[in-house]
Amino acid sequence: MYRLVHNGYLAYLVGGSVRDLILGRKPKDFDVGTNATPNQVKRIFKNCFLVGRRFRLAHIRFGDHIIETATFRRTPDMDDDGDVCLVEDNCFGTPEEDALRRDFTINALFYNIEDFSIIDHVGGLDDLHAGVVRAIGDPNLRFQEDPVRMLRAVRFASRLGFRIDPPTYHAILAHHRQILRAPLPRLLDELLRLFAYGSAEAAFRLLYKVGLFHDLLPEIADFLDHDHGQDSLLWPWLRELDRIVALEPARGTPAVCLAVLLAPALAWVEARYRGRGQTVQHALLVRDLVAPVLLRLGAPRWLHERVVMVLQFQKRFDPLARKRFSRRGFLAQAVFPETFTVFEVATRCGQGDLESLRSWQEMAANGAGTAAEPLALPKRRPPRHRQRQVVRR
Ligand code: ATP
Ligand code: MG
Repeated sequence: MYRLVHNGYLAYLVGGSVRDLILGRKPKDFDVGTNATPNQVKRIFKNCFLVGRRFRLAHIRFGDHIIETATFRRTPDMDDDGDVCLVEDNCFGTPEEDALRRDFTINALFYNIEDFSIIDHVGGLDDLHAGVVRAIGDPNLRFQEDPVRMLRAVRFASRLGFRIDPPTYHAILAHHRQILRAPLPRLLDELLRLFAYGSAEAAFRLLYKVGLFHDLLPEIADFLDHDHGQDSLLWPWLRELDRIVALEPARGTPAVCLAVLLAPALAWVEARYRGRGQTVQHALLVRDLVAPVLLRLGAPRWLHERVVMVLQFQKRFDPLARKRFSRRGFLAQAVFPETFTVFEVATRCGQGDLESLRSWQEMAANGAGTAAEPLALPKRRPPRHRQRQVVRR
């Protein structure tokens, strides 16, 4: 920012980092807004590369960090073909226009390093202090413009412990059914971001309350409807996952998050079959439940397969199933840590064997350094002289 300012440009810290700094939280990343165009930014930073097709952004690298530097822009006017940004310059705007195109007032604050002030075009500071998530402009239009913003409202409310301003809240109630109109990759991305920072339980409770849960995950919503809604079994599962993710964020992988979301519904479906005296193969049941959910969300193939594996392998923790496979082989599988995390959640929610959890935990800890190796252990016995050496020692 100082370099941009020394070169005669405006440069502000923008977006989520300003919000988090004011709240005393550690920002995940820092974004900069400037009136320099991407090419002008590139000219004054050697460590800069331009990304993005529709809207060019400058990524400036400092060590391991990337500072995303975006030129102030305004909401583009749609032309007759619904095409936006025909000429890039058309999209550039003033700082105020840039604040107004953002989603919520708490996300539209700028921090000015020249006088250490906060620039607030939208009343974001008051909302930040009052703990309110409020859409900028008419929430009905803003959610129709980009339905993903409804998920973002839920994310900020649950993560920050804020309430959603009534007009914004009612707009979600009115438009939640449009959520699947959003581009699927962004949808999945925003859905998975609900699990970050250990606030998944609050986020999914709120999704259920406003109806977004039914739109996005009808199979699981069906289970919730039959399982006492806000008193369902699913909530302790998410609470347990939240606890783990708060301590060790890396364990909350996309496959783990989706598997935890699906596991209680899976058990319910399974119990229903059993109740009718029918037996179904667990592996098939998993595929049948996972497929519609992940296809609807446009999950990539690898993620789909991983969720299936994590759920299918839960059976391996069943003490009765142990004999049929190699524990070492299981431990060495790339998917083991994720499978184990879901088993840990299940066990702490009373659905698994605590003794078994402890013994697997120990095994995983002992094998931790060699986790990738056990499969490579010699199949044949080591040569005799080495055996003798071992005995002598
Ligand atoms: P987090 O800390 O979770 O990253 P964030 O506020 O930084 O939260 P990002 O998704 O990283 O959220 O987006 C950065 C900023 O870009 C937001 O603070 C907001 O101002 C703006 N923004 C992001 N998505 C949208 C959107 N769909 N509509 C309008 N503005 C958006
Ligand atoms: Mg961010």
